[in-house]
Amino acid sequence: MSITDSRIEEIIGEMTNKFYGNSAAGAITSKTGYLGCFNDIEAAIEAARLSQRQLVQLSMEHRAKIISAMRKAAIDNAVCLAHMANEETGFGRAEDKIHKNLLAAEKTPGIEDLRTVVFTGDDGLTLTECAPYGVIGAITPSTNPAATVINNSISMVSAGNGVVFNPHPSAKKVSLETIKILNEAIKGAGGPEALLCSAIEPTLETSKTIMTHKDIRLLVVTGGEAVVNVAMRSGKRVIAAGPGNPPVIVDDTADIKKAAADITKGASFDNNILCIAEKEVFVFKTVADELVREMVKNNCYRADKAEIDKLQSVIVEKDKDGKYVPNKKFVGKNASFILNACGIKANADFKLVLAEVDSDHPFVTTELLMPVLAISRVDNLSEAIHKAVVAENSCKHTAMMHSQNVTNLTEAARTLDTTIFVKNAPSYAGLGIEGEGYTTLTIATPTGEGLTSAKSFTRLRRCTLSGSFRII
Ligand code: NAD
Repeated sequence: MSITDSRIEEIIGEMTNKFYGNSAAGAITSKTGYLGCFNDIEAAIEAARLSQRQLVQLSMEHRAKIISAMRKAAIDNAVCLAHMANEETGFGRAEDKIHKNLLAAEKTPGIEDLRTVVFTGDDGLTLTECAPYGVIGAITPSTNPAATVINNSISMVSAGNGVVFNPHPSAKKVSLETIKILNEAIKGAGGPEALLCSAIEPTLETSKTIMTHKDIRLLVVTGGEAVVNVAMRSGKRVIAAGPGNPPVIVDDTADIKKAAADITKGASFDNNILCIAEKEVFVFKTVADELVREMVKNNCYRADKAEIDKLQSVIVEKDKDGKYVPNKKFVGKNASFILNACGIKANADFKLVLAEVDSDHPFVTTELLMPVLAISRVDNLSEAIHKAVVAENSCKHTAMMHSQNVTNLTEAARTLDTTIFVKNAPSYAGLGIEGEGYTTLTIATPTGEGLTSAKSFTRLRRCTLSGSFRII
Protein backbone atom coordinates (compact mmCIF):
# COMPACT_ATOMS: atom_id res chain seq x y z
CA MET A 1 0.00 0.00 0.00
CA SER A 2 1.45 3.38 -0.90
CA ILE A 3 1.09 6.41 1.31
CA THR A 4 0.83 9.95 -0.05
CA ASP A 5 2.86 12.93 1.07
CA SER A 6 -0.18 14.68 2.46
CA ARG A 7 -1.13 11.62 4.52
CA ILE A 8 2.42 11.45 5.93
CA GLU A 9 2.12 15.10 6.91
CA GLU A 10 -1.27 14.44 8.46
CA ILE A 11 0.06 11.54 10.52
CA ILE A 12 3.05 13.55 11.75
CA GLY A 13 0.68 16.38 12.65
CA GLU A 14 -1.53 14.00 14.63
CA MET A 15 1.46 12.54 16.45
CA THR A 16 2.85 15.98 17.13
CA ASN A 17 -0.42 17.03 18.76
CA LYS A 18 -0.48 13.84 20.76
CA PHE A 19 3.02 14.04 22.14
CA TYR A 20 4.18 17.67 22.25
CA GLY A 21 3.38 20.17 24.93
CA ASN A 22 2.71 17.44 27.48
CA SER A 23 3.82 17.86 31.06
CA ALA A 24 7.15 16.05 30.70
CA ALA A 25 8.11 18.22 27.76
CA GLY A 26 6.84 21.32 29.52
CA ALA A 27 9.38 20.85 32.28
CA ILE A 28 12.30 21.53 29.94
CA THR A 29 10.67 23.33 27.08
CA SER A 30 10.76 26.76 25.71
CA LYS A 31 7.48 28.18 24.44
CA THR A 32 8.09 26.74 21.01
CA GLY A 33 7.91 23.10 22.20
CA TYR A 34 10.41 20.33 21.61
CA LEU A 35 10.21 19.30 17.98
CA GLY A 36 11.09 15.64 17.64
CA CYS A 37 10.96 14.74 21.33
CA PHE A 38 8.30 12.32 22.52
CA ASN A 39 7.15 10.71 25.75
CA ASP A 40 7.12 7.36 24.07
CA ILE A 41 10.16 5.98 22.28
CA GLU A 42 7.89 4.05 19.87
CA ALA A 43 6.29 7.35 18.83
CA ALA A 44 9.75 8.86 18.30
CA ILE A 45 10.79 5.98 16.05
CA GLU A 46 7.55 6.19 14.06
CA ALA A 47 7.86 9.96 13.61
CA ALA A 48 11.46 9.58 12.39
CA ARG A 49 10.36 6.83 9.99
CA LEU A 50 7.60 8.95 8.47
CA SER A 51 9.80 12.05 8.31
CA GLN A 52 12.58 10.12 6.57
CA ARG A 53 10.12 9.06 3.89
CA GLN A 54 9.35 12.71 3.31
CA LEU A 55 13.03 13.62 3.17
CA VAL A 56 13.86 11.18 0.40
CA GLN A 57 11.11 12.64 -1.75
CA LEU A 58 12.86 16.02 -1.74
CA SER A 59 15.54 16.84 -4.31
CA MET A 60 19.24 16.72 -3.43
CA GLU A 61 19.33 20.49 -3.90
CA HIS A 62 16.63 20.81 -1.26
CA ARG A 63 18.53 18.42 1.03
CA ALA A 64 21.60 20.65 0.65
CA LYS A 65 19.50 23.68 1.72
CA ILE A 66 18.31 21.76 4.77
CA ILE A 67 21.93 20.96 5.71
CA SER A 68 22.92 24.63 5.32
CA ALA A 69 20.07 25.63 7.61
CA MET A 70 21.19 23.04 10.18
CA ARG A 71 24.76 24.37 10.07
CA LYS A 72 23.57 27.96 10.52
CA ALA A 73 21.33 27.04 13.47
CA ALA A 74 24.17 25.14 15.12
CA ILE A 75 26.56 28.06 14.62
CA ASP A 76 24.00 30.57 15.95
CA ASN A 77 23.47 28.43 19.07
CA ALA A 78 27.05 27.20 19.59
CA VAL A 79 27.68 29.40 22.61
CA CYS A 80 24.46 28.70 24.44
CA LEU A 81 24.67 24.93 23.80
CA ALA A 82 28.27 24.92 25.07
CA HIS A 83 27.24 26.56 28.34
CA MET A 84 24.24 24.25 28.69
CA ALA A 85 26.44 21.16 28.20
CA ASN A 86 28.96 22.44 30.72
CA GLU A 87 26.31 23.25 33.32
CA GLU A 88 24.32 20.04 32.89
CA THR A 89 27.19 17.52 32.83
CA GLY A 90 29.75 19.43 34.90
CA PHE A 91 32.35 18.31 32.33
CA GLY A 92 34.93 20.38 30.52
CA ARG A 93 35.26 24.05 29.73
CA ALA A 94 32.53 26.07 28.02
CA GLU A 95 35.02 27.96 25.82
CA ASP A 96 36.36 24.67 24.40
CA LYS A 97 32.86 23.31 23.92
CA ILE A 98 32.07 26.37 21.78
CA HIS A 99 34.99 25.34 19.54
CA LYS A 100 33.67 21.78 19.33
CA ASN A 101 30.15 22.91 18.43
CA LEU A 102 31.46 25.26 15.74
CA LEU A 103 33.79 22.58 14.44
CA ALA A 104 30.90 20.10 14.13
CA ALA A 105 28.69 22.71 12.44
CA GLU A 106 31.33 23.86 9.96
CA LYS A 107 33.56 20.87 9.21
CA THR A 108 31.16 17.92 9.16
CA PRO A 109 30.83 16.99 5.46
CA GLY A 110 27.40 17.38 3.85
CA ILE A 111 25.85 15.86 0.73
CA GLU A 112 29.05 16.44 -1.28
CA ASP A 113 30.42 13.45 0.61
CA LEU A 114 28.11 11.13 -1.35
CA ARG A 115 29.82 10.14 -4.59
CA THR A 116 28.15 8.15 -7.32
CA VAL A 117 30.41 5.69 -9.11
CA VAL A 118 29.75 5.02 -12.80
CA PHE A 119 31.00 2.11 -14.90
CA THR A 120 30.54 2.27 -18.66
CA GLY A 121 31.65 -0.17 -21.33
CA ASP A 122 30.53 -2.31 -24.24
CA ASP A 123 27.87 -3.88 -22.07
CA GLY A 124 26.21 -0.59 -21.09
CA LEU A 125 26.18 1.52 -17.95
CA THR A 126 26.14 0.81 -14.23
CA LEU A 127 25.68 3.24 -11.35
CA THR A 128 26.57 2.68 -7.72
CA GLU A 129 24.82 5.19 -5.50
CA CYS A 130 24.90 6.00 -1.79
CA ALA A 131 21.39 5.31 -0.48
CA PRO A 132 20.03 5.92 3.01
CA TYR A 133 19.45 3.15 5.51
CA GLY A 134 16.14 4.67 6.71
CA VAL A 135 16.08 5.36 10.43
CA ILE A 136 19.35 5.23 12.37
CA GLY A 137 19.48 4.66 16.12
CA ALA A 138 22.21 6.96 17.45
CA ILE A 139 23.41 6.48 21.03
CA THR A 140 25.35 9.57 22.13
CA PRO A 141 27.76 10.25 25.01
CA SER A 142 27.73 12.63 27.95
CA THR A 143 31.20 13.87 27.09
CA ASN A 144 30.44 15.77 23.84
CA PRO A 145 26.64 15.91 23.91
CA ALA A 146 25.73 18.88 21.70
CA ALA A 147 28.68 18.52 19.30
CA THR A 148 27.93 14.81 18.72
CA VAL A 149 24.24 15.50 18.02
CA ILE A 150 25.19 18.31 15.59
CA ASN A 151 27.81 16.15 13.87
CA ASN A 152 25.71 12.97 13.67
CA SER A 153 22.63 14.91 12.49
CA ILE A 154 24.46 16.68 9.65
CA SER A 155 26.10 13.42 8.49
CA MET A 156 23.05 11.21 8.81
CA VAL A 157 20.56 13.64 7.27
CA SER A 158 23.00 14.40 4.43
CA ALA A 159 22.91 10.68 3.75
CA GLY A 160 19.08 10.79 3.62
CA ASN A 161 18.33 9.17 6.97
CA GLY A 162 16.05 9.96 9.88
CA VAL A 163 17.59 9.59 13.34
CA VAL A 164 16.34 8.45 16.72
CA PHE A 165 18.80 9.56 19.34
CA ASN A 166 19.31 8.05 22.73
CA PRO A 167 21.24 10.81 24.47
CA HIS A 168 23.11 10.03 27.68
CA PRO A 169 20.61 10.61 30.52
CA SER A 170 23.02 12.98 32.25
CA ALA A 171 23.16 15.17 29.12
CA LYS A 172 19.55 14.94 28.05
CA LYS A 173 18.57 18.60 28.37
CA VAL A 174 21.33 19.91 26.13
CA SER A 175 20.90 17.00 23.72
CA LEU A 176 17.13 17.58 23.39
CA GLU A 177 17.69 21.32 23.01
CA THR A 178 20.16 20.60 20.17
CA ILE A 179 17.67 18.22 18.52
CA LYS A 180 14.95 20.86 18.80
CA ILE A 181 17.11 23.61 17.31
CA LEU A 182 18.15 21.42 14.39
CA ASN A 183 14.58 20.23 13.74
CA GLU A 184 13.36 23.82 13.69
CA ALA A 185 16.05 24.60 11.11
CA ILE A 186 15.06 21.59 9.01
CA LYS A 187 11.40 22.55 9.18
CA GLY A 188 12.24 26.18 8.39
CA ALA A 189 14.05 25.02 5.26
CA GLY A 190 10.94 23.18 4.08
CA GLY A 191 11.95 19.76 5.39
CA PRO A 192 10.06 17.31 7.60
CA GLU A 193 9.61 18.38 11.20
CA ALA A 194 10.56 15.25 13.10
CA LEU A 195 13.58 13.94 11.24
CA LEU A 196 15.62 13.95 14.44
CA CYS A 197 13.80 12.32 17.32
CA SER A 198 14.33 11.22 20.91
CA ALA A 199 12.44 10.16 23.97
CA ILE A 200 11.98 13.05 26.42
CA GLU A 201 13.40 10.72 29.09
CA PRO A 202 16.18 8.71 27.44
CA THR A 203 17.16 5.72 29.59
CA LEU A 204 18.94 2.39 29.28
CA GLU A 205 15.48 0.95 28.51
CA THR A 206 14.85 3.33 25.60
CA SER A 207 18.38 2.55 24.39
CA LYS A 208 17.52 -1.18 24.41
CA THR A 209 14.23 -0.52 22.55
CA ILE A 210 16.15 1.36 19.85
CA MET A 211 18.75 -1.41 19.62
CA THR A 212 16.12 -4.09 18.99
CA HIS A 213 13.45 -2.18 17.04
CA LYS A 214 12.42 -3.54 13.64
CA ASP A 215 12.37 -0.07 12.05
CA ILE A 216 15.93 0.82 13.07
CA ARG A 217 18.20 -0.27 10.24
CA LEU A 218 21.56 0.82 11.62
CA LEU A 219 22.95 1.52 15.08
CA VAL A 220 25.60 4.18 15.59
CA VAL A 221 27.03 4.05 19.07
CA THR A 222 29.41 6.63 20.50
CA GLY A 223 30.47 5.76 24.03
CA GLY A 224 32.39 3.45 26.32
CA GLU A 225 33.11 -0.26 26.20
CA ALA A 226 29.84 -1.40 27.85
CA VAL A 227 27.47 0.22 25.35
CA VAL A 228 29.60 -0.86 22.40
CA ASN A 229 29.46 -4.48 23.61
CA VAL A 230 25.68 -4.33 24.11
CA ALA A 231 25.16 -2.89 20.61
CA MET A 232 27.42 -5.51 19.02
CA ARG A 233 25.19 -8.22 20.49
CA SER A 234 22.01 -6.65 19.04
CA GLY A 235 22.20 -8.53 15.76
CA LYS A 236 21.93 -5.24 13.82
CA ARG A 237 24.56 -3.55 11.71
CA VAL A 238 26.58 -1.39 14.12
CA ILE A 239 28.98 1.48 13.62
CA ALA A 240 30.72 1.71 16.96
CA ALA A 241 32.85 4.60 18.19
CA GLY A 242 34.43 3.21 21.31
CA PRO A 243 36.83 4.34 24.03
CA GLY A 244 40.49 5.19 23.63
CA ASN A 245 43.55 5.80 25.79
CA PRO A 246 45.79 7.80 23.44
CA PRO A 247 49.54 7.60 24.11
CA VAL A 248 52.06 10.26 23.07
CA ILE A 249 55.67 9.45 22.21
CA VAL A 250 58.33 12.15 22.44
CA ASP A 251 61.76 11.16 21.09
CA ASP A 252 65.13 12.87 21.37
CA THR A 253 64.83 14.60 17.99
CA ALA A 254 61.60 16.44 18.86
CA ASP A 255 61.29 20.21 19.10
CA ILE A 256 60.73 19.96 22.85
CA LYS A 257 59.38 23.47 23.35
CA LYS A 258 56.74 22.91 20.69
CA ALA A 259 56.01 19.36 21.88
CA ALA A 260 55.42 20.69 25.42
CA ALA A 261 53.07 23.40 24.16
CA ASP A 262 51.19 20.99 21.84
CA ILE A 263 50.77 18.27 24.46
CA THR A 264 49.54 20.84 26.98
CA LYS A 265 47.03 22.27 24.50
CA GLY A 266 45.71 18.87 23.42
CA ALA A 267 45.57 17.23 26.85
CA SER A 268 43.94 20.22 28.55
CA PHE A 269 41.37 20.96 25.81
CA ASP A 270 37.90 20.61 27.38
CA ASN A 271 39.65 19.18 30.46
CA ASN A 272 40.73 16.04 28.57
CA ILE A 273 37.18 14.81 28.03
CA LEU A 274 37.78 14.06 24.35
CA CYS A 275 38.38 10.42 23.46
CA ILE A 276 41.31 11.50 21.24
CA ALA A 277 43.08 13.62 23.89
CA GLU A 278 46.60 12.80 25.07
CA LYS A 279 46.28 10.48 28.08
CA GLU A 280 49.88 9.37 28.76
CA VAL A 281 53.33 10.37 27.52
CA PHE A 282 56.32 8.11 26.85
CA VAL A 283 59.33 10.39 26.65
CA PHE A 284 63.00 9.57 26.02
CA LYS A 285 64.96 9.91 29.29
CA THR A 286 67.44 12.27 27.64
CA VAL A 287 64.77 14.92 26.98
CA ALA A 288 62.28 14.16 29.79
CA ASP A 289 63.44 16.87 32.21
CA GLU A 290 63.33 19.50 29.49
CA LEU A 291 59.83 18.42 28.40
CA VAL A 292 58.45 18.59 31.94
CA ARG A 293 60.17 21.96 32.55
CA GLU A 294 58.62 23.37 29.37
CA MET A 295 55.18 21.99 30.28
CA VAL A 296 55.42 23.65 33.69
CA LYS A 297 56.10 26.92 31.84
CA ASN A 298 52.83 26.24 29.98
CA ASN A 299 50.91 26.27 33.28
CA CYS A 300 51.07 22.58 34.10
CA TYR A 301 51.44 21.51 37.74
CA ARG A 302 54.13 18.88 38.45
CA ALA A 303 52.98 16.61 41.27
CA ASP A 304 55.61 15.04 43.54
CA LYS A 305 55.60 11.39 44.63
CA ALA A 306 53.45 11.96 47.75
CA GLU A 307 51.00 14.07 45.76
CA ILE A 308 50.74 11.38 43.06
CA ASP A 309 49.88 8.80 45.76
CA LYS A 310 47.23 11.15 47.14
CA LEU A 311 45.85 11.77 43.64
CA GLN A 312 45.66 8.02 43.05
CA SER A 313 43.65 7.51 46.23
CA VAL A 314 41.18 10.20 45.14
CA ILE A 315 40.71 10.15 41.36
CA VAL A 316 40.65 6.43 40.56
CA GLU A 317 38.75 3.57 42.14
CA LYS A 318 38.25 -0.13 41.43
CA ASP A 319 35.09 -1.53 39.83
CA LYS A 320 33.46 -4.80 40.81
CA ASP A 321 35.96 -6.73 38.67
CA GLY A 322 38.92 -5.06 40.37
CA LYS A 323 39.65 -2.90 37.30
CA TYR A 324 40.69 0.73 37.82
CA VAL A 325 38.10 3.27 36.65
CA PRO A 326 38.05 7.05 37.04
CA ASN A 327 36.15 8.48 40.00
CA LYS A 328 33.24 10.16 38.18
CA LYS A 329 33.37 13.15 40.57
CA PHE A 330 36.60 14.24 38.89
CA VAL A 331 35.90 13.40 35.24
CA GLY A 332 36.18 16.53 33.08
CA LYS A 333 36.88 18.82 36.05
CA ASN A 334 39.44 21.63 36.14
CA ALA A 335 42.99 20.75 37.26
CA SER A 336 42.67 23.17 40.20
CA PHE A 337 39.47 21.44 41.40
CA ILE A 338 41.23 18.06 41.34
CA LEU A 339 44.30 19.39 43.15
CA ASN A 340 42.22 21.16 45.78
CA ALA A 341 40.29 17.93 46.43
CA CYS A 342 43.65 16.29 47.18
CA GLY A 343 44.56 19.04 49.63
CA ILE A 344 47.09 20.58 47.23
CA LYS A 345 47.02 24.37 46.99
CA ALA A 346 46.30 25.13 43.37
CA ASN A 347 46.42 28.07 41.05
CA ALA A 348 43.11 28.45 39.18
CA ASP A 349 45.07 28.85 35.93
CA PHE A 350 46.63 25.37 36.05
CA LYS A 351 45.71 23.51 32.89
CA LEU A 352 47.09 20.06 33.64
CA VAL A 353 48.53 17.98 36.45
CA LEU A 354 51.68 16.07 35.47
CA ALA A 355 52.30 12.76 37.21
CA GLU A 356 55.60 10.97 36.57
CA VAL A 357 54.85 7.29 36.99
CA ASP A 358 55.86 3.83 35.74
CA SER A 359 54.17 2.49 32.64
CA ASP A 360 51.98 0.04 34.61
CA HIS A 361 50.53 2.75 36.87
CA PRO A 362 46.72 3.18 36.76
CA PHE A 363 47.18 6.73 35.45
CA VAL A 364 48.74 5.14 32.35
CA THR A 365 46.40 2.17 31.96
CA THR A 366 43.07 3.93 32.74
CA GLU A 367 41.14 6.27 30.44
CA LEU A 368 40.92 9.02 33.07
CA LEU A 369 39.09 11.69 31.00
CA MET A 370 40.42 14.43 33.27
CA PRO A 371 43.39 16.84 33.12
CA VAL A 372 45.86 14.52 34.85
CA LEU A 373 48.57 13.40 32.45
CA ALA A 374 50.84 10.43 33.16
CA ILE A 375 54.46 10.81 32.08
CA SER A 376 56.72 7.80 31.80
CA ARG A 377 60.42 7.81 30.90
CA VAL A 378 61.82 5.36 28.32
CA ASP A 379 65.31 4.49 27.07
CA ASN A 380 64.64 4.23 23.35
CA LEU A 381 62.11 4.03 20.52
CA SER A 382 61.34 0.32 20.76
CA GLU A 383 60.59 0.65 24.49
CA ALA A 384 58.41 3.73 23.81
CA ILE A 385 56.44 2.00 21.06
CA HIS A 386 56.02 -1.21 23.06
CA LYS A 387 54.73 0.68 26.11
CA ALA A 388 52.47 2.89 23.98
CA VAL A 389 50.93 -0.20 22.33
CA VAL A 390 50.23 -1.74 25.75
CA ALA A 391 48.71 1.52 27.07
CA GLU A 392 46.54 1.92 23.94
CA ASN A 393 45.05 -1.44 24.87
CA SER A 394 43.99 -2.40 21.32
CA CYS A 395 41.40 0.40 21.19
CA LYS A 396 42.85 1.23 17.74
CA HIS A 397 41.84 4.81 18.50
CA THR A 398 44.41 7.62 18.52
CA ALA A 399 48.13 8.17 19.17
CA MET A 400 50.49 11.13 18.87
CA MET A 401 54.22 11.48 18.33
CA HIS A 402 56.63 14.39 18.48
CA SER A 403 59.79 13.78 16.45
CA GLN A 404 61.82 15.19 13.57
CA ASN A 405 62.87 11.69 12.50
CA VAL A 406 60.66 10.38 9.69
CA THR A 407 61.80 6.81 10.19
CA ASN A 408 60.87 6.92 13.88
CA LEU A 409 57.49 8.49 13.08
CA THR A 410 56.76 5.86 10.44
CA GLU A 411 57.72 2.96 12.68
CA ALA A 412 55.51 4.23 15.53
CA ALA A 413 52.55 4.96 13.23
CA ARG A 414 52.74 1.50 11.64
CA THR A 415 53.15 -0.41 14.88
CA LEU A 416 50.54 1.50 16.87
CA ASP A 417 48.00 0.91 14.07
CA THR A 418 45.53 3.49 15.44
CA THR A 419 42.64 5.09 13.51
CA ILE A 420 44.18 8.55 14.05
CA PHE A 421 47.94 9.23 14.29
CA VAL A 422 48.94 12.85 14.86
CA LYS A 423 52.52 13.97 14.18
CA ASN A 424 53.98 17.10 15.84
CA ALA A 425 50.66 18.68 16.79
CA PRO A 426 48.02 18.64 19.54
CA SER A 427 45.63 15.66 19.40
CA TYR A 428 42.75 17.83 18.18
CA ALA A 429 44.60 18.44 14.90
CA GLY A 430 43.41 14.92 14.05
CA LEU A 431 39.83 16.25 14.20
CA GLY A 432 40.52 19.23 11.95
CA ILE A 433 41.30 21.91 14.56
CA GLU A 434 44.64 23.42 13.43
CA GLY A 435 44.86 20.37 11.16
CA GLU A 436 43.62 19.52 7.68
CA GLY A 437 40.63 17.38 6.93
CA TYR A 438 36.98 17.11 7.87
CA THR A 439 35.73 16.47 11.37
CA THR A 440 33.62 13.95 13.21
CA LEU A 441 32.71 13.38 16.83
CA THR A 442 32.08 9.70 16.08
CA ILE A 443 35.35 7.92 15.33
CA ALA A 444 34.39 4.36 14.54
CA THR A 445 37.26 2.44 16.06
CA PRO A 446 36.23 -1.18 16.78
CA THR A 447 34.08 -1.50 13.63
CA GLY A 448 36.63 0.20 11.38
CA GLU A 449 34.74 2.97 9.54
CA GLY A 450 37.20 5.46 11.04
CA LEU A 451 36.25 9.13 10.98
CA THR A 452 32.58 8.83 10.05
CA SER A 453 30.89 11.13 7.53
CA ALA A 454 27.70 11.06 5.43
CA LYS A 455 28.89 8.18 3.27
CA SER A 456 29.46 6.01 6.36
CA PHE A 457 25.70 6.13 6.91
CA THR A 458 24.70 4.93 3.46
CA ARG A 459 24.18 1.58 1.83
CA LEU A 460 25.54 1.12 -1.67
CA ARG A 461 23.00 0.31 -4.37
CA ARG A 462 23.76 -0.64 -7.95
CA CYS A 463 21.64 0.03 -11.02
CA THR A 464 22.63 -1.53 -14.35
CA LEU A 465 21.39 -0.64 -17.83
CA SER A 466 22.59 -3.32 -20.21
CA GLY A 467 23.64 -2.84 -23.80
CA SER A 468 22.70 0.80 -24.40
CA PHE A 469 22.95 4.48 -23.38
CA ARG A 470 26.56 4.94 -24.46
CA ILE A 471 27.36 7.51 -27.13
CA ILE A 472 30.55 5.93 -28.50
P1 NAD B 1 28.86 5.88 28.19
O1 NAD B 1 29.32 4.60 27.57
O2 NAD B 1 28.62 5.93 29.65
O3 NAD B 1 27.49 6.36 27.51
C1 NAD B 1 27.34 6.46 26.11
C2 NAD B 1 25.90 6.16 25.74
O4 NAD B 1 25.62 4.77 25.92
C3 NAD B 1 24.87 6.90 26.59
O5 NAD B 1 23.82 7.34 25.76
C4 NAD B 1 24.40 5.85 27.56
O6 NAD B 1 23.09 6.08 27.99
C5 NAD B 1 24.47 4.59 26.72
N1 NAD B 1 24.72 3.37 27.48
C6 NAD B 1 25.69 3.19 28.41
N2 NAD B 1 25.67 1.91 28.87
C7 NAD B 1 24.67 1.28 28.20
C8 NAD B 1 24.15 -0.05 28.23
N3 NAD B 1 24.64 -0.99 29.03
N4 NAD B 1 23.10 -0.34 27.39
C9 NAD B 1 22.59 0.59 26.57
N5 NAD B 1 23.04 1.87 26.50
C10 NAD B 1 24.06 2.21 27.31
O7 NAD B 1 29.92 6.97 27.73
P2 NAD B 1 30.17 8.45 28.24
O8 NAD B 1 30.79 8.40 29.58
O9 NAD B 1 29.00 9.30 28.04
O10 NAD B 1 31.28 8.86 27.16
C11 NAD B 1 32.64 8.62 27.34
C12 NAD B 1 33.14 7.39 26.62
O11 NAD B 1 32.82 7.45 25.24
C13 NAD B 1 34.64 7.33 26.70
O12 NAD B 1 35.06 6.00 26.84
C14 NAD B 1 35.09 7.91 25.36
O13 NAD B 1 36.36 7.49 24.93
C15 NAD B 1 34.02 7.37 24.45
N6 NAD B 1 33.86 8.22 23.27
C16 NAD B 1 34.28 7.75 22.07
C17 NAD B 1 34.16 8.54 20.95
C18 NAD B 1 34.63 8.07 19.61
O14 NAD B 1 34.41 8.79 18.65
N7 NAD B 1 35.27 6.92 19.49
C19 NAD B 1 33.61 9.81 21.05
C20 NAD B 1 33.17 10.27 22.30
C21 NAD B 1 33.30 9.45 23.41
